[in-house]
Amino acid sequence: MTASSRQLMVIGAGTMGRGISEVALRHGWRVHLVDPDAAQRQSAQASIEKGLTRAASPEMLDPEWRRRLTVSADWDGIEPSWVIEAVPETMALKGPLFTRLDQEFGPEVWLASNTSSIAVTEIQGVARNFPERIGGLHFFNPVPRMALVEVIAGMATKAPYVAAAVELIREWDKEPVVAPDRPGFLVNRVARPYYLEALRMVDDGIVSLETCDTIFEGVGFPMGPFRLMDLVGIDVNFAVTESVFTQTFYDARYRPHRLQQQKIRLGQLGRKSGRGFYRYD
Ligand code: NAD
Repeated sequence: MTASSRQLMVIGAGTMGRGISEVALRHGWRVHLVDPDAAQRQSAQASIEKGLTRAASPEMLDPEWRRRLTVSADWDGIEPSWVIEAVPETMALKGPLFTRLDQEFGPEVWLASNTSSIAVTEIQGVARNFPERIGGLHFFNPVPRMALVEVIAGMATKAPYVAAAVELIREWDKEPVVAPDRPGFLVNRVARPYYLEALRMVDDGIVSLETCDTIFEGVGFPMGPFRLMDLVGIDVNFAVTESVFTQTFYDARYRPHRLQQQKIRLGQLGRKSGRGFYRYD
């Protein structure tokens, strides 16, 4: 398949996929959102609708945006210029997707993963045809509000990809920062100790989690570590820590914490499941 201009395909209609879709629609792009889970497709459409219609200046929004959005279980017949993958943080899912994308789309179609922590070079390793047009576009949650996007070049990524990615992110009124393909890139490398030290302090009985959030928010952090883990998803956060820990060949600074693992075992994943470190009605 070939590329058509300003057409984005987003794979995965979860927290991040729906946010990325909303931003692209706001900037006049055609968006094809793909997810095999019907309930996720439905709730993503409702969430995009809510996001776009409560925009600060709705008069700026092209009322035709609904016609520019298609939501489907698979991508047959779609001809995007950009593909952004936002499925759960495991190579077991991302690997086969990138192998298939690389086989089905020509080298003029730019492919990106929204991975928080998997090495982009590892993703390139499953694409035998054109790994040079694959990179990372790491958006932050909630996507419509967060300005920063890390642009990650893997070992095989070529300069034109990085230039195209920077241009795309600027077109969407966001701030691109080119980051190296190292464990945790830039943001997650510095954010891991923030979460992990907070988990250790609470586990050691030094402070309650509520007080821990209060102290950080009191000195100017927008969210304390526990409220932030609930927003991100404890499962997502834990997977990122595990990935950084493994990729640093088990650097103790990034050792995952049991408290998060226990929450996941109980299905208490944060806001998305109604309960995490806090309860949500
Ligand atoms: P999520 O669990 O909210 O959504 C994932 C979606 O992918 C689900 O709707 C699921 O049905 C769908 N999916 C699963 N397999 C699929 C497949 N084969 N094809 C198409 N869709 C499939 O996850 P999320 O929080 O949106 O995270 C997605 C990615 O973004 C992960 O790599 C994560 O690390 C990264 N990320 C997450 C955050 C965050 O705060 N949640 C921030 C930055 C980056």
